[in-house]
Amino acid sequence: MEKEYFMREAIRLSVENVNSGKGGPFAALVVKDGKIIASGTNLVTSSNDPTAHAEITAIRNACKVLNSFQLEGCEIYTSCEPCPMCLGAIYWARPTRVYYGNRQADAAAIGFDDSFIYDEIALPQSSRSLPQEQLLPEEALKAFVQWKNKEDKTEY
Ligand SMILES: [Zn+2]
Repeated sequence: MEKEYFMREAIRLSVENVNSGKGGPFAALVVKDGKIIASGTNLVTSSNDPTAHAEITAIRNACKVLNSFQLEGCEIYTSCEPCPMCLGAIYWARPTRVYYGNRQADAAAIGFDDSFIYDEIALPQSSRSLPQEQLLPEEALKAFVQWKNKEDKTEY
């Protein structure tokens, strides 16, 4: 299958998602060995889940299909360039490549502007609009020490 075939399918699902009223105009596919193994659409408003972006939904569905926490050998086709959250999730899932349709600027033009998150990430913590404060660091380290010393852990 051609790359454009998969992108057209992602675009078709994004249009369908608008018509269904389930969420924003976004959809994503996970492709492995030339086959679509899972898809996902934006379900933020219908599932009351701010993390239910198309890419996240597609990654979750694909990982279930593969019974794995990694998208080894997979490609992601998303109808729009990933936001910072999805980009982070994509890095964690470790697919081999990402194709996108719309650009971030196209999303910003219709009210989905994620540039403020990129701006925030670039700022020192003390200058961000979301206050963050460290509490109980010594107690929090207990789990890390336990993990470091655990012999039968599943690393990722
Ligand atoms: Zn996203």
